[in-house]
Amino acid sequence: MTIAAPPDRRRTGWLYALALAVLLAPAAPLPAGAAGDVAPEGATGRTQRAPDRATRHMAAAANPLAASAGREILRAGGSAVDAAIAMQMVLGLVEPQSSGIAGGAFLLHWDAAARTLTTLDGRETAPMAATPERFLKPDGTPMAFFDAVVGGRSVGVPGVPRLLELAHRRHGRLPWRDLFAPAIRLAEAGFAVSPRLHGLLAQDKHLRDDPAARALYYGPDGAALPIGATLRNPEYAAVLRAVAEGGADAFHTGPIAAAIAAAVAGHPANPGDLTPADLAAYRARERPPVCGPYRGYTVCGMGPPSSGGIAVLQILGVLEAQDAAASDPIDAAHRFAEAGRLAFADRARYLADPDYVPVPVRGLIDPGYIAGRAALVDPQRSMGRAEAGTPPWRQGALYGASEGVEHGTSHIAVVDGQGNAVSMTTSIESAFGARLMVRGMLLNNQLTDFAFEPVADGLPVANRVEPGKRPRSSMAPTIVFDGDGNLRAVVGSPGGSQIIGYVAKTLVGLLERGLDPQVAVDLPNFGSRNGPTELEKGTEAETWKAALEARGHTVSVIEMTSGTQAIVVTPDGLVGGADTRREGAAAGD
Ligand code: GLU
Repeated sequence: MTIAAPPDRRRTGWLYALALAVLLAPAAPLPAGAAGDVAPEGATGRTQRAPDRATRHMAAAANPLAASAGREILRAGGSAVDAAIAMQMVLGLVEPQSSGIAGGAFLLHWDAAARTLTTLDGRETAPMAATPERFLKPDGTPMAFFDAVVGGRSVGVPGVPRLLELAHRRHGRLPWRDLFAPAIRLAEAGFAVSPRLHGLLAQDKHLRDDPAARALYYGPDGAALPIGATLRNPEYAAVLRAVAEGGADAFHTGPIAAAIAAAVAGHPANPGDLTPADLAAYRARERPPVCGPYRGYTVCGMGPPSSGGIAVLQILGVLEAQDAAASDPIDAAHRFAEAGRLAFADRARYLADPDYVPVPVRGLIDPGYIAGRAALVDPQRSMGRAEAGTPPWRQGALYGASEGVEHGTSHIAVVDGQGNAVSMTTSIESAFGARLMVRGMLLNNQLTDFAFEPVADGLPVANRVEPGKRPRSSMAPTIVFDGDGNLRAVVGSPGGSQIIGYVAKTLVGLLERGLDPQVAVDLPNFGSRNGPTELEKGTEAETWKAALEARGHTVSVIEMTSGTQAIVVTPDGLVGGADTRREGAAAGD
């Protein structure tokens, strides 16, 4: 299934060649069942799957049980937001390494009847007691990353319950309490531990040290629950029942909030300072969407405090401004990596919580500015390391740069029967977050998305820790519209700062080449975050190494485990793609 694209679009042979390579690769047996069925529990690896198609509605998530819960809510007449809420509650149970209600998220909502796009910010905040020196050792040097992550210090004020309640007040159709039923059912009856959950539990170095997590996920000998073991989480079910009945306040105030604050303060080695007052004061925020043109479409994403929307638009803009038909994969990978360098240089300097530092959003996505950045790309030679640009803006303030290290997130994509859509990326930051479990929930470590060093090059860093501030994110939930402003695609991925490249790659595949979403998601991952050029291990991208090195790239071949979910609206209905690098599934009718 292809997407109608503007007639003047240029053809790039490399993506077509890659798509063919992917399609012609030896196929693993397809899961039994009609098209649109959820892949069986435990489907992992780079399997080829038939595209998921639907005519009424579709829900896609990183785990088949979550996708099924979304479809169950859609079948009951629920809206896209209703389905997303049910899916988030299930993900917190079955994919606890990635997201949960003690984390944060960004949610894009398309209201088909009103024809409005809303972007909601449920990002964690720093406690009011936080200071810019939070992640410095007594000698003034930054802490080692995992010394900062594990424990209470990294825990930000969770935003997911208030975010989802706000979204439900505006766009919900079913009663709030009904949306918790699939997750409560699974948490009480139990579900089979998936290969990915087992593998991550087995390899994690810190989670066993938390007594509650150890009791839930490991045997007496410390071995991770095996694949297929039935995992029940009654304490989580009790939290869900409380929130189902009492709303987000049942989480942000009262005994659950008190238990969270106590666990953070009580960590034996690395306590934090999150208080019940911080939890009670949390508010989700509506932010202006950031939108830009690409190949005749309008691509919209999340603005600050995420860097995701701006960086994706900059990459797409630089690629389009070069206006060159890259006919071979090396040319295309070269250009994509160079565009990534430029975007990440700006991200490091300018992106942070806009309530604390002025961010030149319009300047960074200004077409003239992007054309100037594109002119810096030499078609044959890597620039090595890009410098931040000077986008047009009034403040003229300059910041020191900060890069950041991240990993542990999930993407939910839903289109409901009325054509409303949700694109939500949700995170507890690192895999298993702060490795601190309270009432069956893992607490986030999102504060380590702040810059550890508050000053760089003698300048204050925009993304330094400040009380009440939201750490910079890379999450890039995206919604795409066609030239008439109609919904065309819902896309997003986890992957730390690599999210930006994963989403940009998928959008190039969908919008430039008109690829089926599953094919676009399956394309090898590659790009640059203004360091080495990264190529996905075990894919065709590996074979580009020598040719890119000849153009001056420093290449690193690494695992690039995206978890991209995409739903595309076509004249024949909805087509889904879900990333088989994780356990993604799309379920529709
Ligand atoms: N915490 C990261 C962010 O908000 C995402 C981490 C991940 O995707 O693993 O940008």
